[in-house]
Amino acid sequence: MSLKHQIARKEIIEAGRQILESALVIGTWGNISVRVPEDELIAITPSGVDYNRLIPENIPIMDFEGNLIDGNMTPSIELAMHLEIYKNRPDINAIVHTHSTYCTAMAIARQPIPAACEDLIQIVGGAVRVAEYKLPGTLELGKAAVLALEDRNAVLLANHGLLAAGKDLKETLKIAHICEKSAHATLLAANIGGAVSLSKEDCAIMRDFYLNKYGQR
Ligand code: 13P
Ligand code: ZN
Repeated sequence: MSLKHQIARKEIIEAGRQILESALVIGTWGNISVRVPEDELIAITPSGVDYNRLIPENIPIMDFEGNLIDGNMTPSIELAMHLEIYKNRPDINAIVHTHSTYCTAMAIARQPIPAACEDLIQIVGGAVRVAEYKLPGTLELGKAAVLALEDRNAVLLANHGLLAAGKDLKETLKIAHICEKSAHATLLAANIGGAVSLSKEDCAIMRDFYLNKYGQR
């Protein structure tokens, strides 16, 4: 097995521990994947396995047609959703799907996370839209997620949870945390008059700043 595959698998195992410890997932729900650089392959969490018991061989390496290339376990039931996003979004190299509490609250109410928190606007590109409801584990869920994701880096899956998608796994974990914080803040703000969304113009300025200027260059 190539070094690239081993790096991808280790990254996923570490991210799995992190989302479990930070309560973005409970039990074995949620899933994580990354593109294997330069190969038409992805590494993805296996279905229904404890995040804190994963070893590298458990992480399936899959091709874009859904064939198992390496690994000793069955991939996540959401493989089709992950593949659908990679096929439609060349800018996306990592996906983290969570069932975190506050994002799930927004998802069951089928309410978007508004473009009100500045960090959310910068890292996601605007409000986190809600995808049309589709059953888990279906290609239809993947298609609905791609549609609602559009030019953004996160989408709520109706009655289900959050899907964060970024340029690498480190950024994608950050997106999942910022979405959870923003969903929480939105629900708190609902008690004191509600969140105030920012204008499209201000959102565009902040997004450009994040993509082209923010941080160390
Ligand atoms: P898997 O354990 O198969 O990844 O399923 C969990 C999940 O979140 C389904 O949507
Ligand atoms: Zn799920």
